[in-house]
Amino acid sequence: MDTTPSTPRHESLDERQRVPSDADLDTLSRQLGRPVRDVVEIGARCVCGNPLVATTAPRLASGIPFPTTFYLTHPVITAAVSRLEAAGEMAAMTERLGRDEALAGAYRAAHEHYLAVRDAIGERTGVGAVPEIAGVSAGGMPTRVKCLHVLVGHSLAAGPGVNPLGDEALGKIAEWWTPERCHCAGAWDTAGEAPARDRSRHVKTQSGDPEAKKRERAAARAAADAERPARAAGGDS
Ligand SMILES: [Zn+2]
Repeated sequence: MDTTPSTPRHESLDERQRVPSDADLDTLSRQLGRPVRDVVEIGARCVCGNPLVATTAPRLASGIPFPTTFYLTHPVITAAVSRLEAAGEMAAMTERLGRDEALAGAYRAAHEHYLAVRDAIGERTGVGAVPEIAGVSAGGMPTRVKCLHVLVGHSLAAGPGVNPLGDEALGKIAEWWTPERCHCAGAWDTAGEAPARDRSRHVKTQSGDPEAKKRERAAARAAADAERPARAAGGDS
């Protein structure tokens, strides 16, 4: 079968596996401890089938543009990645990007992949183009590292070989989580009701990344201002 030009080459799950079931949405809410909203697909799954990454539409139901497409949800992975961040890994990676041309080129390609996949997701979920966030990816890409959760979420959704620093971070958390084995048992509360999905106001920004929040606010302002022509939401290039 032919693939359309807008279909990105790298996505770890096929079309059928990406469809979120009600059980998946409940699991995501339990993993995060809050209701999820605007999740359009599952970006990556554990070998047992549980979601690892929630895929959010590039425009929320509220109309707000949302640049962070892949949101890492599995508590074992998010905690392990937080340990890397606390150990100063982001500054070290950003410093390497400044002097390693091959790494910088691969990271820029990851940024382009992120944008292409997001466009494709917007297309196939009926959201369409979101000009306010054109060229704006997430996690500090393409020149910095500001949120390892974003990069790891991207690596898990894309599969290995797309985001070099996300892949590297995954390797560094192998002590706590590895892709070939299920680490779900006891990782989140499975008793009682899942947090109700319809009570949330909007999807929380991954790891509270202040730059991502800034971009979202800028994008929201851009969206609200219908008088002006659409502009890029970032001030981050
Ligand atoms: Zn599992």
